[in-house]
Amino acid sequence: MSAVPEVTKSIFEGPYYLTIDGRLVETQDSFDVVNPATGEVLAKAPAAVPDQLEAAIAAARKAFKSWSTLKYEARQQYLYAYADALEAHRDELARLLTLEQGKPLKSMAEPEVDLSISWIRQTAARRVPVEIIEETADHIVELHHTPLGVVGAITPWNFPVLLALRKVAPALITGNTMVIKPSPFTPLTTLRFGQIAQSVLPPGVLSIVSGGNELGPQMTNHPDIAKISFTGSTETGKHVLRSAAGTMKRVTLELGGNDAAIVMPDADYKSIIPQLYWGAIGNSGQWCDGIKRLYVHSSFHKDFVEAFVDYAKQQKLGDGLDPSVTVGPVQNKMQFDKVKTFLDDIKASGHKVVLGGQVDENRPGYFIPVTVVDNPPEDSKIVQEEQFGPIVPILVYDDVDEAIERANDSPFGLGGSVWGRDTKAAAAVANRLETGTVWVNEIHIHGVDMPFGGHKQSGMGTEHGNEGRQLFTNPKTVMIKK
Ligand code: NAD
Repeated sequence: MSAVPEVTKSIFEGPYYLTIDGRLVETQDSFDVVNPATGEVLAKAPAAVPDQLEAAIAAARKAFKSWSTLKYEARQQYLYAYADALEAHRDELARLLTLEQGKPLKSMAEPEVDLSISWIRQTAARRVPVEIIEETADHIVELHHTPLGVVGAITPWNFPVLLALRKVAPALITGNTMVIKPSPFTPLTTLRFGQIAQSVLPPGVLSIVSGGNELGPQMTNHPDIAKISFTGSTETGKHVLRSAAGTMKRVTLELGGNDAAIVMPDADYKSIIPQLYWGAIGNSGQWCDGIKRLYVHSSFHKDFVEAFVDYAKQQKLGDGLDPSVTVGPVQNKMQFDKVKTFLDDIKASGHKVVLGGQVDENRPGYFIPVTVVDNPPEDSKIVQEEQFGPIVPILVYDDVDEAIERANDSPFGLGGSVWGRDTKAAAAVANRLETGTVWVNEIHIHGVDMPFGGHKQSGMGTEHGNEGRQLFTNPKTVMIKK
């Protein structure tokens, strides 16, 4: 163990350490982290053994005693100091994020880091208040929200910084301590912001333990972890839910989606194409609440497809560090292979591909060309499953009721959007979508006060908003006879 949790000057160069109990911790073994734009090894990440995860949980448990009894204002000051410390390394964190994740630096990585820092500040400014449920002359009933204990955060690789810090901020401000296990595909930026945390937060309050997937079940089973805040696939979410049952852990699951966008018959469809394009293809299609099915009205379908493809052709696929690039690679080999199964199926089924469709196998890195499929059948793989890559099916409908029915006919229920000139009519359609979030004439607006969570198999519980913050607490009813 190193006693000095210093942040190296050049944060995107190794070595990387676990952070446990306020210290930098080396490991015996390491694993490769690959730059998806080149396919080459970018760095070695520390592979924790079970004892090291155990030590992080024990440190978090110890730290909980004093952290949970601090006044809200004191925790708030710590979080403000943490946000400031991260901001001092903003450029390097964003660059490291592009290197390990692949997303374009200016349009995606820098905004992700900035938004994460601002999320910490905004969350720190919000208290979960004591509610007065009832008050009479001789009796008062209060609802308090007490911290849970140690929270285990398990995060994915698509927005590794934002999705982790959106867990850190509400967990810590409400008095919990946290251990994060980042995705093995993108551990580096998380390890660095963990390292930065050690210079401002008390030991044990926030630890980062990277390693293989097997660390996940150790957390979800662990008797000293009170809650698992999980973001990832629906399949893994089900494992988490089963595993957490043994210790009655609180669980929040933010899972996959197959979001529909419905472009209404009265839409000014040409003007919204950039929003629809980026809603689907931004982050190379790797967002949980990205547009994964695009329903357009038959009266303008042909023109729409043409205009969408024209816009797509203006974008450049490549290394996210190149300032002219707007679409990066898919993040990892596993996902690259998975997205290719969609392309194979599209080809084998004879669906009409109007853009892309063919991977250049000689190109290094994990590049999938933006692919547009014109009106594949509703029961096709690309419509029914989550592609989580830069492929968009444009589907034709005649009748709005029919579009709503098709949009809702899914085991997923994360998000959706409706686009039309008549905002009231579009909002009425939005109200009929069976999803946790729905946007009208905009997309991907999130905020600390806006609860976010999935219906159906897209998740359980909520993040953000007072509802989300409360899920990091136990409700405690206090009845006092005056
Ligand atoms: P994943 O489920 O493969 O992995 C997520 C995390 O779970 C990783 O840290 C992984 O190491 C860990 N893990 C793996 N097996 C585990 C187990 N048995 N127990 C506990 N943890 C385990 O997901 P991914 O491929 O990293 O992410 C992509 C998926 O995440 C997509 O389906 C996407 O829609 C979803 N996602 C959802 C949201 C949301 O807010 N709803 C946000 C981003 C991504």
